[in-house]
Amino acid sequence: MNKKFATAINCIDGRVQLPVIDWLKKEAQIDYVDMITEPGPNKVLSENKDRVVIESIKKRVGISIERRNSRLIAIVGHFDCLGNPSNKDIQLQDIKNAIEVVKTWELDAKIIGLWVDENFNVNPSD
Ligand SMILES: [Zn+2]
Repeated sequence: MNKKFATAINCIDGRVQLPVIDWLKKEAQIDYVDMITEPGPNKVLSENKDRVVIESIKKRVGISIERRNSRLIAIVGHFDCLGNPSNKDIQLQDIKNAIEVVKTWELDAKIIGLWVDENFNVNPSD
Protein backbone atom coordinates (compact mmCIF):
# COMPACT_ATOMS: atom_id res chain seq x y z
CA MET A 1 0.00 0.00 0.00
CA ASN A 2 1.23 3.47 -0.78
CA LYS A 3 2.40 5.45 2.20
CA LYS A 4 0.66 8.75 2.82
CA PHE A 5 2.74 11.91 2.97
CA ALA A 6 1.85 15.34 4.28
CA THR A 7 3.83 18.54 3.96
CA ALA A 8 4.63 20.74 6.94
CA ILE A 9 5.84 24.31 6.61
CA ASN A 10 7.34 24.47 10.05
CA CYS A 11 9.78 26.53 12.07
CA ILE A 12 13.41 25.47 12.29
CA ASP A 13 12.93 25.19 16.08
CA GLY A 14 14.00 21.73 17.23
CA ARG A 15 11.26 21.60 19.84
CA VAL A 16 8.39 21.61 17.38
CA GLN A 17 9.42 18.97 14.82
CA LEU A 18 8.31 15.82 16.60
CA PRO A 19 5.06 17.29 17.99
CA VAL A 20 3.99 18.31 14.47
CA ILE A 21 4.97 14.95 12.96
CA ASP A 22 3.20 13.04 15.72
CA TRP A 23 0.05 15.17 15.39
CA LEU A 24 -0.16 14.72 11.62
CA LYS A 25 0.43 10.96 11.88
CA LYS A 26 -2.30 10.59 14.47
CA GLU A 27 -4.89 13.19 13.48
CA ALA A 28 -4.53 13.13 9.71
CA GLN A 29 -3.60 9.45 9.28
CA ILE A 30 -0.29 10.34 7.66
CA ASP A 31 2.69 7.96 7.46
CA TYR A 32 5.43 10.49 6.75
CA VAL A 33 5.82 14.26 6.93
CA ASP A 34 7.98 16.19 4.49
CA MET A 35 9.37 18.97 6.66
CA ILE A 36 10.04 22.36 5.14
CA THR A 37 11.62 24.63 7.72
CA GLU A 38 12.21 28.36 8.03
CA PRO A 39 12.45 30.53 11.13
CA GLY A 40 8.93 31.81 11.79
CA PRO A 41 7.44 30.64 8.48
CA ASN A 42 3.96 31.94 9.35
CA LYS A 43 5.42 35.46 9.54
CA VAL A 44 7.46 35.08 6.36
CA LEU A 45 4.47 33.80 4.37
CA SER A 46 2.05 36.28 5.91
CA GLU A 47 4.26 39.21 4.92
CA ASN A 48 4.81 37.65 1.49
CA LYS A 49 7.76 39.97 0.83
CA ASP A 50 10.98 37.97 0.93
CA ARG A 51 10.81 36.63 -2.63
CA VAL A 52 13.91 34.43 -2.31
CA VAL A 53 12.64 32.62 0.77
CA ILE A 54 9.05 32.44 -0.51
CA GLU A 55 10.17 30.93 -3.81
CA SER A 56 12.36 28.45 -1.95
CA ILE A 57 9.45 27.34 0.24
CA LYS A 58 7.18 27.12 -2.80
CA LYS A 59 9.67 24.98 -4.71
CA ARG A 60 10.10 22.57 -1.80
CA VAL A 61 6.35 22.32 -1.17
CA GLY A 62 5.89 21.63 -4.88
CA ILE A 63 8.30 18.69 -4.78
CA SER A 64 6.45 17.21 -1.83
CA ILE A 65 3.06 17.60 -3.52
CA GLU A 66 4.13 16.34 -6.92
CA ARG A 67 6.68 13.67 -6.06
CA ARG A 68 5.29 12.35 -2.79
CA ASN A 69 1.66 12.92 -3.66
CA SER A 70 1.06 14.88 -0.47
CA ARG A 71 -2.48 16.24 -0.34
CA LEU A 72 -2.15 18.09 2.94
CA ILE A 73 -0.07 21.17 3.79
CA ALA A 74 0.21 22.25 7.41
CA ILE A 75 1.46 25.76 8.21
CA VAL A 76 2.83 25.94 11.73
CA GLY A 77 3.24 28.66 14.32
CA HIS A 78 4.48 28.13 17.85
CA PHE A 79 4.92 29.62 21.30
CA ASP A 80 8.29 31.31 22.04
CA CYS A 81 9.32 31.51 18.37
CA LEU A 82 12.56 33.38 17.66
CA GLY A 83 11.60 33.92 14.02
CA ASN A 84 8.14 35.21 14.89
CA PRO A 85 8.20 36.80 18.36
CA SER A 86 4.60 38.07 18.11
CA ASN A 87 2.02 36.94 20.66
CA LYS A 88 -0.34 34.05 20.01
CA ASP A 89 -3.20 36.16 18.62
CA ILE A 90 -1.00 37.85 16.04
CA GLN A 91 0.65 34.55 15.13
CA LEU A 92 -2.75 32.94 14.59
CA GLN A 93 -3.59 35.79 12.23
CA ASP A 94 -0.21 35.27 10.52
CA ILE A 95 -1.14 31.61 10.00
CA LYS A 96 -4.47 32.66 8.46
CA ASN A 97 -2.73 35.08 6.12
CA ALA A 98 -0.08 32.47 5.29
CA ILE A 99 -2.83 29.99 4.33
CA GLU A 100 -4.29 32.58 1.95
CA VAL A 101 -0.87 33.13 0.35
CA VAL A 102 -0.22 29.41 -0.12
CA LYS A 103 -3.73 29.02 -1.60
CA THR A 104 -2.67 31.35 -4.42
CA TRP A 105 -0.04 28.76 -5.41
CA GLU A 106 -2.97 26.62 -6.59
CA LEU A 107 -1.59 23.31 -5.43
CA ASP A 108 -3.76 20.21 -5.29
CA ALA A 109 -3.71 19.99 -1.50
CA LYS A 110 -5.72 20.94 1.54
CA ILE A 111 -4.07 23.63 3.68
CA ILE A 112 -4.43 23.71 7.44
CA GLY A 113 -2.90 25.80 10.22
CA LEU A 114 -1.40 24.40 13.40
CA TRP A 115 -0.48 26.13 16.64
CA VAL A 116 2.09 24.56 19.00
CA ASP A 117 1.49 25.86 22.51
CA GLU A 118 3.77 26.35 25.53
CA ASN A 119 3.37 22.68 26.46
CA PHE A 120 4.23 21.65 22.90
CA ASN A 121 0.73 20.45 22.32
CA VAL A 122 -0.44 20.87 18.74
CA ASN A 123 -3.84 22.42 18.03
CA PRO A 124 -5.63 23.37 14.83
CA SER A 125 -5.17 27.14 14.57
CA ASP A 126 -8.81 28.01 13.84
ZN1 LIG B 1 10.08 29.32 15.72
